[in-house]
Amino acid sequence: MLKTKTIRLNSILSLQLLPFFSDNYCYALINHRTKQFALVDPADPAKIQQYLSDVQNQFQDKKLIAILCTHKHYDHAGGNSYFQKTDPLIEIYGGTESEAVNKVIPTEERKGFEFKLFDDQTQIQAYHTPCHTKGHVCYVLQNKKENGDEWNCVFSGDTIFAAGCGKFFEGSAQDMYSNIQLIRSLFSDVNEAKRTLLCCGHEYTVKNVQFLVDRISNVPLVTQYLEKFKNLSNNGEFCVPTTIWEEFELNPYFRAIDDENCELNSAQEKSNYFRKMSEYLGEQDVTTSNAAVDLLKKVRELKDQY
Ligand SMILES: [Zn+2]
Repeated sequence: MLKTKTIRLNSILSLQLLPFFSDNYCYALINHRTKQFALVDPADPAKIQQYLSDVQNQFQDKKLIAILCTHKHYDHAGGNSYFQKTDPLIEIYGGTESEAVNKVIPTEERKGFEFKLFDDQTQIQAYHTPCHTKGHVCYVLQNKKENGDEWNCVFSGDTIFAAGCGKFFEGSAQDMYSNIQLIRSLFSDVNEAKRTLLCCGHEYTVKNVQFLVDRISNVPLVTQYLEKFKNLSNNGEFCVPTTIWEEFELNPYFRAIDDENCELNSAQEKSNYFRKMSEYLGEQDVTTSNAAVDLLKKVRELKDQY
């Protein structure tokens, strides 16, 4: 049996993780009422078809109606054409850079492009987040409120990973800084951040946190996360998804931001969090000698060299 993970998001929607290649994740959003589903980055059609035909996964009585494509790389967009051939009516959302897209997300502005998935109950906000690629898009799923126990999702592709971010192939540190600020601004409500899952494109979690401990931060919070993720990984479990709140706490690109109103990003907390990086670079305090965007850039450079 293929290993997957299913999370009930609310009374009608489930999220299912479908791993493929060595560390990629495709996500299925399944609507139990309309009997439809959507896929995020289903880039290995043969493997994805195995999941869809596995009776354990409950796809048999449901129809694929949409694909949300995050960016043009083959391990994300590489299944679009295949699925379009199976049914030309499937709506394929993405930037113009990605193959077979028939619902283009506008990239002129960094404001959300809203569309309905399935029915009025499920809204998606798509945001242009250039940096990893010029046309990268992140998708935010916001469910109608029921009783406060429902989960929302951010499908972040290769822009933001659990405890990390994607390589800056077609953008600058300033671009990534803007992307991080965008996600922060969307989840300024702590309770929302705690009820929102970060659904990223790859399982890099243990590697990312090991890098943090070795080069950036070894405060107890970070070492505890490392232990937690190592345990999950050693037991064959997925570390993904984390919550947006966990990223606020753990992710160095979120911690690099200046914000005296947020305890995690106050000058004192930043200095503490980045003490290991200061030591590693032989500097007094990297958080006072670097503006936030430069600090973010240096973390990325250290990761690229790691
Ligand atoms: Zn990529």
